[in-house]
Amino acid sequence: MKIPYRDLSVSDCNLRSELLQAVDRVLSHGKIVLGPETEEFERKIAQFCKRKYAVGLCSGTTALYFALRSLDVGPGVQVVTTPLSWIATLNAVALCGAQPVFVDIKEDLNINVDLIEDAITEKTKVILPVHFTGKLCNMPQITEIAKKYNLHVIEDAAQSFGACDNGIMAGSFGDIGCFSMNPMKVLNAYGEAGVAVTDSEIIYRKLISLRYLGTINKENCLYPSYNGKIDTIQAAMLLVNLKYLSKKIKSRREIAGFYTQSLKDIVVCPQDNKTNHVYYLYTILAPSRDELKQYLFSRGIETQIHHPKLMPNNTAYQYLPKFNMPVAEDLIGKILCLPNQETLTLKETRYVVECIKDFYGGS
Ligand SMILES: *Cc1c(COP(=O)(O)O)cnc(C)c1O
Repeated sequence: MKIPYRDLSVSDCNLRSELLQAVDRVLSHGKIVLGPETEEFERKIAQFCKRKYAVGLCSGTTALYFALRSLDVGPGVQVVTTPLSWIATLNAVALCGAQPVFVDIKEDLNINVDLIEDAITEKTKVILPVHFTGKLCNMPQITEIAKKYNLHVIEDAAQSFGACDNGIMAGSFGDIGCFSMNPMKVLNAYGEAGVAVTDSEIIYRKLISLRYLGTINKENCLYPSYNGKIDTIQAAMLLVNLKYLSKKIKSRREIAGFYTQSLKDIVVCPQDNKTNHVYYLYTILAPSRDELKQYLFSRGIETQIHHPKLMPNNTAYQYLPKFNMPVAEDLIGKILCLPNQETLTLKETRYVVECIKDFYGGS
C-alpha cells in the first residue's frame, strides 16, 4: 500500500465541477481584482469567526505581517511568541524590524502560558500565540495576561481555522486573528491565500490600506507596504470549500480519534477529540523518530516532520540571543506527523497503525 502524506488533487467529481463553475463565473464577470466573490468571502469568514471584519489577503504570512504593522509593531518593540511554528511566524516579526522573544512550549506543542509573564518587559507590545497543529492555545489565560499588562494579542491561527473553545472561534480571541488558506491548510485555496479578522474598525481600515501598498483609495500612499490582496478566483474557490469545511473537520477528528485510540500505549499522542482541535497536523511524539520515519517510508507510508528546527535555530536568526526552551529542544527531535487527510480510508489508517506497531514491536 502507498500512502502519500498529502494529495492535493481534487478527486471528488462533484467538488471539482463546483470549483470549475466558481472559476468560470469569475472569468465571465471579469471583476478579477477585488471582485464580488472577495466581498462575499470576507463576509462569510467574518460571520464564521463571529467577528466584525475580515480582510482577504494573499497569504497567511502577509496576514501576520500586516497584523503586526497595523499595530505599529516595529524596531524597539518586543513580540512574545513560541519557538515552534512554521518560519512564517518569525519572519513576519523580523520583517517588521521587531524583536522576537520566545517562550517554551508544553507537551501539546503550544506555548506554555505559565511562562509568558516572565518574558514580558516594558518593550513588549504583542503576544503572538500560534495554535500549532490546529489546536487552540489556552486563550482565556493569554487574553487575561494581555489585559493585565495592556498588550495586544495577534493569533497565528493559520493552522486552526474552525477550531473553537466554548463557542469562541480560533482567530476571535485576540485583537487580530490571522489565517492561511494555502493549499495544504484545512480550509484551502488552490494557490496562495489568507485572511485577517478583527472587531476594530481602525485595524480593519489599516489592513485594507496595507494590502493595497499602503494607499487610501489608490490615491495617496500613507506608509510603504506590499500588494497583499487575495485573488478573486481564490476567494471564489474558497467559498465552495467553506461549505464542506465542517464535514472535513469531522473526518479529520475521526481519523485522529482512531490514531490516538490505537497508538496511545506506544507513543505520545495529542489529546483526544475536542472542538478545540481541527487536526491540521496529527503529530505523535515518537522515540527513535528518524528510524520510525524511515521504516514507515520503506512500507509505503510518507510522514513529515513539522518542523525539523525550532524557528530561532534557523540560519537567518543566528543573531538572536539564546532563549531558555528545554521542552521545545527536546520535543523537536520526537515529533512526527502521520498522514491524516480527510480522504484517507479506514483501511489506510489501519495500515499506518499496524506498521507503527510492527516497528516498535520488532525493536
Ligand atoms: C501556513 C502557516 C503560515 C503561513 O501561511 P502562508 O499562507 O503559507 O503564508 C503561518 N503560520 C503558520 C503556523 C502556518 O502553518
